[in-house]
Amino acid sequence: MFILTAGFINTPAQESSFPLIPKPEKTEWLEGKFSFSRNTGIACSDKVLQEYFISQVNALTGVKLNSGAASPAVIVLNLTKEKMDAEEYKLSITEKRAEITASSKEGLFRGMQTFFQLIPPAAKAGKNNSSVEMHCVNLSDKPRFSHRGLNLDCGRHFMSKDFIKRYIDILAYYKFNTFHWHLTEDQGWRIEIKKYPNLTKVGAWRKESDGSIYGGFYTQDDIKEIVAYAQSRYINIIPEIEMPGHSLASLASYPENSCTGGPFEPTNLFGVFNDIYCAGNEGTYKFLQDVLDEVIALFPGKYVHIGGDEAPKIRWKECPKCQAKIKAEGLKDEHELQSYFIKRMASYLTSKGKTVIGWDEVLQGGLAPGIIVQSWQSFEGAVDAAKQGHYVVCSPASHTYLNGSPENLDLRIAYSFEPVPPELNKEEAKYIMGGEVNLWTERAPQETVDSKLFPRILALAEVFWSDPKGRSYDEFYSRLQSYYPDMTALGIEYGQGSKVLNVNTSYDGKEKSFIIKADVTQSNVEVRYAIDKPLDNNSALYKEPFKINGTNTVQIGTFRNGRSLGDAVGLSFVFHKALNSKITLSTQYNERYRASGPEALIDGVRGSADFRDGCWQGYEGVDLDCVIDLGEEKEISTVAPRFFLDANSWIFLPSHVEISLSKDNVNYSDTKTVVNDTDQKTSDIIQKDFKASFGKAAARYIKVKAIGLKQCPEWHPYAGGKAWLMADEIVVE
Ligand SMILES: [Zn+2]
Repeated sequence: MFILTAGFINTPAQESSFPLIPKPEKTEWLEGKFSFSRNTGIACSDKVLQEYFISQVNALTGVKLNSGAASPAVIVLNLTKEKMDAEEYKLSITEKRAEITASSKEGLFRGMQTFFQLIPPAAKAGKNNSSVEMHCVNLSDKPRFSHRGLNLDCGRHFMSKDFIKRYIDILAYYKFNTFHWHLTEDQGWRIEIKKYPNLTKVGAWRKESDGSIYGGFYTQDDIKEIVAYAQSRYINIIPEIEMPGHSLASLASYPENSCTGGPFEPTNLFGVFNDIYCAGNEGTYKFLQDVLDEVIALFPGKYVHIGGDEAPKIRWKECPKCQAKIKAEGLKDEHELQSYFIKRMASYLTSKGKTVIGWDEVLQGGLAPGIIVQSWQSFEGAVDAAKQGHYVVCSPASHTYLNGSPENLDLRIAYSFEPVPPELNKEEAKYIMGGEVNLWTERAPQETVDSKLFPRILALAEVFWSDPKGRSYDEFYSRLQSYYPDMTALGIEYGQGSKVLNVNTSYDGKEKSFIIKADVTQSNVEVRYAIDKPLDNNSALYKEPFKINGTNTVQIGTFRNGRSLGDAVGLSFVFHKALNSKITLSTQYNERYRASGPEALIDGVRGSADFRDGCWQGYEGVDLDCVIDLGEEKEISTVAPRFFLDANSWIFLPSHVEISLSKDNVNYSDTKTVVNDTDQKTSDIIQKDFKASFGKAAARYIKVKAIGLKQCPEWHPYAGGKAWLMADEIVVE
C-alpha cells in the first residue's frame, strides 16, 4: 500500500495519528511541516472555488488566506488538463508548498476536503490561530463508487433549513456526493407546492398525542437556497415524493385522491397505514403529475425518487375505481395495479428528462427499463435488479439503517458492508452505483441526528469511497479513535459506534433487594443513575453495584463530557414470589427480542411502553408456553403475566391465557383461562395484565400458556404475516 523510501514515515501508528476518513487510495506521509497564516498566498484559476477554500479555512481556523496578487502563491489549487477521473485528485503538501491537482472542479473540491481534514483538530478547535501547521504528505485518491449518499427522513421529523445546509457541509467533508431528501410521509408533507396549498397548510402539521401541534415545511425559496448551496458543495440532491403509500399527509390535504374519500389527518403514529393514493382515480395521476412538475422545476439534478415501498393493498381491493382500472387495463390483481401506477408515473418523469429511483418493491410485477432500484429489504432486490439490467443503489437495512440501535448494527457491521453482492458477476456488478446511509426519523428529531449517524456513518463513508483492498476494521477503528477530537472541533455531537452500556440486575432473596450492576465497553465515559427521578448529567455517578429495596424506577445511562450518549435505560422493579425461581420455556423467543434472556419473565424488571426497551420478550408466530418452578410450595393468590399490543408493529395480545398450578409438575389443576377482552383493531399502544386469581392455593409449579394470534388478522394490512406476542413479567403474588 505504501511506498517506503528515505524521508517517508509510514508506520501504522503514525498513519492513524493523522486520520483521514475515508481512507485515500495512496498516502505517503513525509517528514516536516507546512505552515500557513494570513500572509500565505493562494491561487486558483476558478475564483468561486478559491473563495470557497478561503472561507472554509477561515471558518475552521480563523486564518484568512491572502488572495492578493502581490503575495506569491504557496497554496495552489490546480485545474489540470491531465486526464483524470471526475472525482480524482492529487494532494501534495511539502514544507514550502501545498498543491491540489484535479482535472475537474469536482475533483478539486474533493481534494480540498482532504486538506481540511488534515488541519489538526487543535487548530480547528481554536479557530483564532495566527498560523496553522500541517504535516507534509503526498497522496492520490479517487472514489470506488459514483453514488455515495445519505437519505434523511424529514417527513417524520422536520429538520430546519440551516440544519440541512450544515449536513450538506458535513456530507461534503466526508466525500459523500448525494443527499437523498425524503420530503413526504404519512406524518408530514414538507415541500411547498404552489398549485396545492393544502399540502403544507394541512399536510405539514400533525397533532401529537399530548395535543400539541408539530410540523414545518420548506418553501420553494428555501429549497432553491438549499439546492444552490448543495451545488456549490458538489452534492446532488435527490428529492423523494412517496407514492402510492406513505401518503396520509397528502390525503389529509386532498382526500379526493384516496379510495374512500377520507377524512384523514397527518398521523402521529409510526408504522404502515392502509390509506394510500387511489390508483383507479385519474385525478390522482393529474395531481401527482402537477406536484412532480413543481418538483422538477426546483431540483435540477438527474434523479427523482418516487418511493413505491410499503403500500398495503387493502383499500384497492375494496375500491370500485381501483377494481375498474384493473379490469380496463387487463391487470391480474392489485400488485399489477401497483406496477401500472409506478410505470405510469415513471414514464411521466422520464418524458421530462428525469431518471426515476424507487425502493425495491417496484420490482414486483415488472419494471420499465431505465428505472434505478434502491434496495433496502435485503441484498436480494439488488441482485434481481442488477441481473435484470437496472442500476442499483444498495442500502440494505441490515447495514445502512442507522436509526437502528448500535446494539444491532454496530461500527463493525457497518464497516463490513459490501455493496456489490457476491452473486453478481463482473458485468452485473457494474450496475451497482454505490450505496446510501439511511436515517428514518420515527425516533430521531433533529437534535439527535448527529448522535444516530456518528460515528457509524464514517464506516460507510469509507465503504463507499475507498478500495476494499488494503482496508481492515482494526486499522479503521484505531484511525477513528484519533478522529473524535476532529468531530468535536466540527461541533458534531457523535453518539455510540457500538453498545457501550450493559446493565445487569439480580435479586438477592435474603436481603429482599435488587442489585444493579453496570459495565461499560469504553473508557472516557461516565455512568450515571437516578432513582425515581429523571436522569441528567448531575445525577449520581455510578461507582459500584447498588441496591434497590422498594418498587422503584431507576434510570441509568452513559455520559461523555457531560453529554448523554443517548443510551439511558429505565428499569422499574416489581417484587413478587417468583423472583429467583426457575423457568422452563417450551417455546422459543426470537433473539431480536430476548430481553434479559431465559429468565426475563421472572427477573422483577418490568417492560415499559416501548417494546424495544430490552425488557419485552418477543415470540414471533408462536405461543408462549412456560413452567415456573418456585423451588418449594408457596401460597398463591394471583398470577399475572403482562402482554403488549401495538397492531401497527404487528404485536398483538394473546387471544387467551391458560394458567394452572401443580405440586409435582405432573398433575395440574385449578386451570384458569383469562380471555382477552381488548379490541386488537386499534392504533393504541397497550400493556395489559392477564391476571388469574386462585384464592389461597398452595403450589410449587405454575404453568402459563398464552395463545397468540400467530398471524396478523384479516383486517390487518399484513393479513397472514407473522404476528408477534410480546410478554414481560409474570407477577406471582
Ligand atoms: Zn381506489
